[in-house]
Amino acid sequence: MKIALVGIGKIALDQHVPAIATSPDWELAATVSRKGTVDGVPSFDSMDHMLDARSDVRVVSLCLPPVPRFEAAKTTIEAGRHVMLEKPPGATLSECHTLIGLARQHGVSLFATWHSREAAGVADAQAWLADKTLRKLTITWKEDVRRWHPGQDWIWQPGGMGVFDPGINALSIVTKILPDPIHVSSAVLEVPENCQTPIAAEIDFHHPAGAEVTASFDFLQQGEQIWTIKAETDEGVLILSDGGANLTIDGKDMLRSDAFSLTGEYPRLYAQMARLVESGRIDMDLTPMRLVADAFTLGRRMPVAPFVE
Ligand code: NAP
Repeated sequence: MKIALVGIGKIALDQHVPAIATSPDWELAATVSRKGTVDGVPSFDSMDHMLDARSDVRVVSLCLPPVPRFEAAKTTIEAGRHVMLEKPPGATLSECHTLIGLARQHGVSLFATWHSREAAGVADAQAWLADKTLRKLTITWKEDVRRWHPGQDWIWQPGGMGVFDPGINALSIVTKILPDPIHVSSAVLEVPENCQTPIAAEIDFHHPAGAEVTASFDFLQQGEQIWTIKAETDEGVLILSDGGANLTIDGKDMLRSDAFSLTGEYPRLYAQMARLVESGRIDMDLTPMRLVADAFTLGRRMPVAPFVE
C-alpha cells in the first residue's frame, strides 16, 4: 500500500522511514513537510496539495507534534484516507474523540500508536503480571531533554506536554501490563518560569487493590538515562528497563536486547496498521493520554528556574 509521511522531523527520519522501507506492506509514496524531505520521495508542502495530487495514496502517517496533528488528521479523514497517529494521538482528549467520530463517519481506519507498548519486554511483562498480586509499582523516567529533544520548542508550548512527552510512553506501558486500572490521585508538576509545560513531575496513582503506584519524571537527568518500571508482587520483582527493551524477574535476565533503541517497535506498529486497514478497524486506546490529562487537571504547579537550551 502506498503511504504518505507527514512532519519530517526526528522520529520520522529515525524510525518511520526505515520501518516503512523494510516493510513488505508499505511503499513510501509522498511526504508532507515545510522543510523536511526524504531522498527520492516526492515531497509536498501542504496536506491539501498532497491529498489533491495523490489519489493513489490511501494511508497517511502523521509524525507532527501534537498541536498541529488534529487539523492534519481531520483533513486526511475527510479526504477518505486512513490515518496513523504518532503518540500522543492529539493535543486533547476531545480532539481524539472527534477524530474517532469522523473516522467512523468516513469509514476509514484510525490508529493511535503507542510505540513503547511494542518494546521487546512488554508482552512478557504483561503475561507475568496477569496472575500476581501487585504490592508496589515504581515508574522512573528520567532523561536529558537537551540530548533527546534538541530545538523542539513545541514541547514547552501549550499542548506540548513537557516531560509528559516521554512520560506518556511509561504510562502507555503500565496501562498495558497491569491487569487493573489505575488513575491519578495526586501530582506535583515543576514548570519552568518561561515555559507552559512541566520539566519534572511526581505522580501518585490509585490502585484498586491498594498497591502503591508512583511515577517520577525528570527532563534534566544528567549521566545515566533511566526509563524503568519496577513492579513488586507477592511472587517476585519484575523490572522493565531501557524503555521496555529489557526484562528481569527477581534479578534474572528474561530478555536482554540492545540498550534503548526502539528496535522493532516501529515495524510492529506498521504491521498493525496494515492489519487495521485490511480489516477496516479503528484502534484508539486513549488510556495513557487520560492519565496525563488527569495529572494536568489535578497537579499542583511549582514554578522552577527558567529552562534555557
Ligand atoms: P520534531 O523533530 O520537532 O519533528 C516534527 C516535525 O513536524 C517538524 O520537523 C516539522 O517539520 C513538522 N511540523 C509541522 N508543524 C509543526 C509545528 N507547528 N511545530 C513544529 N513542527 C511542526 O519532533 P519529533 O521528535 O519527530 O516528534 C514528533 C512526534 O513524534 C511527537 O508527538 C513525539 O512525541 C513523537 N515521538 C518522538 C520521538 C523522539 O524520539 N523524538 C519518539 C517517539 C515519538 P517541517 O518544519 O518540515 O514542517
